[in-house]
Amino acid sequence: MRKPIIKVLLFTTNIFHSIHFLFLTLPQIIQNLRKMESAIGEIQWLVFFNDQLLLEKQKDAYTLPWGEQPPITPESNTIIHDITTPKGVLCKAFSIDREIDETEQYLMTGLRASYEYLPYSQYQIAGKAHEILHWDKNSNFCPACGTPTEKREPIMKKCPNCGNELYPAISTAILALVRKEDSILLVHARNFRGTFKSLVAGFLETGETLEECVAREVLEETGLKVKNITYFGNQAWPYPSGLMVGFIADYESGEIVLQEEELSEGAFYTKDNLPEIPRKLSLARKMIDWWVG
Ligand SMILES: [Zn+2]
Repeated sequence: MRKPIIKVLLFTTNIFHSIHFLFLTLPQIIQNLRKMESAIGEIQWLVFFNDQLLLEKQKDAYTLPWGEQPPITPESNTIIHDITTPKGVLCKAFSIDREIDETEQYLMTGLRASYEYLPYSQYQIAGKAHEILHWDKNSNFCPACGTPTEKREPIMKKCPNCGNELYPAISTAILALVRKEDSILLVHARNFRGTFKSLVAGFLETGETLEECVAREVLEETGLKVKNITYFGNQAWPYPSGLMVGFIADYESGEIVLQEEELSEGAFYTKDNLPEIPRKLSLARKMIDWWVG
């Protein structure tokens, strides 16, 4: 008669013992994992001087510097930011106040140019780090009452006076690939760095949808009406803190009349007559490449 009771008691004790064991050891396991991470130098370091990023040279490639310690000793009052990444790689970022001269091990390059050197996942991390550093630099005072803010979370600051919370703000902009028969609309904006031509682009305004923004921007910048506006894709654009959202649209009506303040050129181009187009890093280029097929 007692045997089943003993069995139940033993079973219960084992379960409690297992749970007890689990709770006791989980923090230790995490601690050990962290130690292992440090031991194999899993921290990726993002060191910026303005938009110049520190890269480490390897045999025939470049990488973000990694190691237990930062590649350059930061000044004592430097804030080191934890950068969270989708893959959970341990990343830390900080700014320096001077450019580092090239050595056998390191060089600095612009964030845009780092796209050419780094694996894409590292370029993305660098972009995020740049956005966080930009936000940190521009959120030292509460915009509502002017009191110095306090950092409470990796991406949250709080005003100790009025309680205002500050998070990194993202500026959303659209890209519009406008098709007309066998050609697309390409423009040269006065703020482009270079002679290439690209898609119509513009910032989302308050109170409008992304599609309304596409229709408005194309009309404002080129005088054309568009239809069949459909989503293509999006891309973080850390210059300094943007999100580009791409749309495909079809020409509906109108003649090209450029908004002279923003654009210096604009026309429809066929596939065999394309001008210089943006570099590979941009969503605009991805969209043009998709259209070329
Ligand atoms: Zn305040």
